[in-house]
Formats: sequence, structure tokens, C-alpha cells
Amino acid sequence: MKLEKSAELFRKGQKHLVGAVNSPVRAFKSVGGVPVFIDHARGSRIFDVDENEYVDLVLSYGPMILGHRHKKVERSIKKALKKGYTFGASTNKEIKLAKIVCDAFPGMDKVRFVNSGTEAVLSAIRLARAFTGHNKIIKFSGCYHGHSDALLVAAGSGLATLSMPGSKGVPDEAVKNTLIAEFNNLDSVKKHMDAQNDIAAVIIEPIAGNMGVVTPDQAFIDDLRTITRDKGILLIADEVMTGFRSKFGGAQELLGFEADITCLGKVIGGGFPVGAYGARNEIMELVAPLGGMYQAGTLSGNPIAMACGIATLKELKRQNPYKSFDKKAKKIKAMLLESAEKHGIDIQVNHFGSMVNVFFTKQEVTDFKSAQSCNTENFKVFFWQMMEHGVFLPPSQFEAWFLSSALGKADLKKIEQAIDISMAKVAE
Ligand code: PLP
Repeated sequence: MKLEKSAELFRKGQKHLVGAVNSPVRAFKSVGGVPVFIDHARGSRIFDVDENEYVDLVLSYGPMILGHRHKKVERSIKKALKKGYTFGASTNKEIKLAKIVCDAFPGMDKVRFVNSGTEAVLSAIRLARAFTGHNKIIKFSGCYHGHSDALLVAAGSGLATLSMPGSKGVPDEAVKNTLIAEFNNLDSVKKHMDAQNDIAAVIIEPIAGNMGVVTPDQAFIDDLRTITRDKGILLIADEVMTGFRSKFGGAQELLGFEADITCLGKVIGGGFPVGAYGARNEIMELVAPLGGMYQAGTLSGNPIAMACGIATLKELKRQNPYKSFDKKAKKIKAMLLESAEKHGIDIQVNHFGSMVNVFFTKQEVTDFKSAQSCNTENFKVFFWQMMEHGVFLPPSQFEAWFLSSALGKADLKKIEQAIDISMAKVAE
């Protein structure tokens, strides 16, 4: 596989960019080798600067649910561009996107747009504290909620349970109010609730995607909803990844529950930087200018991003690809399991809607601990073989693969061939 131009850019980029990237996973550190630099993308495919062509299962870590450069979306962006890029005053587009979002999530009367998932979540936490007057939050190990200080608690092992910061530069005080529980384990939540009476919120990725795809037991979600409601603790659904992806109404529609605050990102911007948090009126009316919880943004509700979001969500609603996503994900799961069995490799495959993960482990993956039982060396070999054979995967065992509605028969065939060759290599 030729990666000469990528290698050259990787070298050149080191001078003025940290590690030649603007987000760490793009450096391919966990799989080694040269990270690819992208030239362009269209539909289900992405092309690097060395002219390698891949079926794209990264989709910019989720946003590109229609595939790249969907015609209708691109038309809307171009039209919006002609009117100007940002105004520092409101536009009708914000109202339109807000209606689409609130209609999709019954628990949201109002929404506030921000510029990233990180911002959406940190604002939601502030709002939960403002509403309840309490300070502590419970998060689940293995769930990622962006890079704000309070949520960068190491997800796992002793560090997690001790609420030690998971990043240099995060003071202990910033995470002292963050309590860690285990995904799919209600007792670990109850334990905190029994010991503390200062809990503002429980935050969860209802379908976890940041330890690989890990699905919740229905009873766990139902009981979590009941217990938080009974205790007056807010339930925050971080649907930055799952919103509009697992169903139009996100994981909440799929699992049949309503969070108190919902965080969104990725798909709602269709590839432009948009995040959002929303809730019922009683909660949102605390946000400035209606209430005393301050949160603002120079580029929030940016008209180009709003135009892209509106066009993406409208097209998504029209296509309603969710059944087909499920079918395609099941096909990919079957391909992986069949090939792994043929080559004698231990794997688990988790999938939900349009998110899929292969875990190189014998053990069923239901939480962060079981996810960590994976053989990451096997993943490395698998990853590079998949790349070599034309399938762009996230360069980490613990990142979800995403499907787009542009993924067609020829793409699935290519994926199937690549899987079989890659599993054979893992077996060598
Ligand atoms: N929440 C979840 C569930 C995410 O998956 C992510 C990013 O992957 C974030 C929050 C942070 O979003 P962003 O990277 O847009 O800041």
C-alpha cells in the first residue's frame, strides 16, 4: 500500500501542528504506522492523498450519515454561503433546525445550539447543577463525553473509582464531584446514591460507542430512568453519537425512555461543527437570556452549519434508512463471525443500528472491563489489512465503525473480501 504522500505530510505537519494532527486519534498511535491524509470523499468512499480509495466506515466519527457530499445537502450549503458566513445575530435557520430536533426528541421543548459535543455536554452538566442546586454527577466508566475537565476522569481501573483526573492539567478539584459507576450495573449507581445526597445528574451514553459499541440491557436503562426520577436526579442522555443515528429520535426512541437533558452533536451538523443540548421548558428556561445559567458562543447557530444540519436531517427523515442500517450491520456482523470462525480467531461483534464493532476477545463485551480484555495486537494487524484492502476503519479497537446510507452492495462486497483476507492475516 502506497502511503508516500501521507508520510511526507505527516513529517511536514509535525512542525506547526501537535503530532501533525488536531485530534489525537488521527495520529494512528494505537495501530502504528503512517496516518492517512485525506484528499477528498464522495458518497460511501474516501480517497487519500496517495490516491488510495476506501469504503469509509469512519464517516468523520459519525456525522456523515448520508455519506459524503450528498447532493441536496451540498446545494443547501452553497445557497447559504451566498448569504454570508456568520452574523452574530439570529437567523430563521436556527428556528428551523430547532423544530426538527425538538420534534424528534419528545423530552425537548427547547434546544440551545453550540459548536461541539464537548460544549453540549459541559453546558448540560452546568444546567443540571443549576436546576437541582446539587454538584455531583455520576458517569459510567468507558463512556466518553468530550474533553471538559470534569468528565475527563480516567475511565477504568483504580483511577476511575478514585475519581483521579485522566489527563494532565486537570486539577483534582475539577473531578472531585465526578463519581464513576459501571455500565449495565445499577448497583454501582445505587451505591453512590445511597452514600451521597448532593447528586445533580447521571450522564450516560445510552448506547455506548466510546469503548467500542456496548449495548445496554433494557432493564438497566428502565431502572436507571426510574431511580433518577424517584430521587429528583436528572438523567442526561449523551446522544452526541447516537442522536439521529440509531433512530431518528436517537437511542431514546429505540430504548423507549425520555432523558431530562439530551446532548447532541455529530449528525445534527451533517459534517459542520454543531452540538446541542435540550430539555423540557422548566429546565431550559434557566439558560441565559431567560435564566441565570450563562452559556454563549460567537459561532453558535452558525448559518452554514445550520443549513447543512437542516438539509441532512430532512434527507435522513425522507430516506428513513434505519431498517436498512440494521440489515447491513447484521450482514457485516455475519461476515466477521463467519470469517473469524473459519480462521480460528476469537472475536465478539456488537452492533446497534448503524454502529458496529469487532472485539478481538472471547469474552462477551458488556462494559469497559470486558472491552479491555481485547487483544489489541490482533486489532492492529486486522486494521492495516482492512486499510490495505480498501476499507477505512477507525484506528482503534475502541472506536465504533459507522455505516452511511450511501453504503451499497459493491461496498459490502468489498468489506466482505477485506474481512476474509484480514482475518487470515490475523491467524498467521
Ligand atoms: N459525547 C460523545 C458520546 C461523543 O462520542 C463525543 C465525541 O466523540 C463527544 C461527546 C464530544 O464531541 P466533540 O468531539 O464534538 O466535542
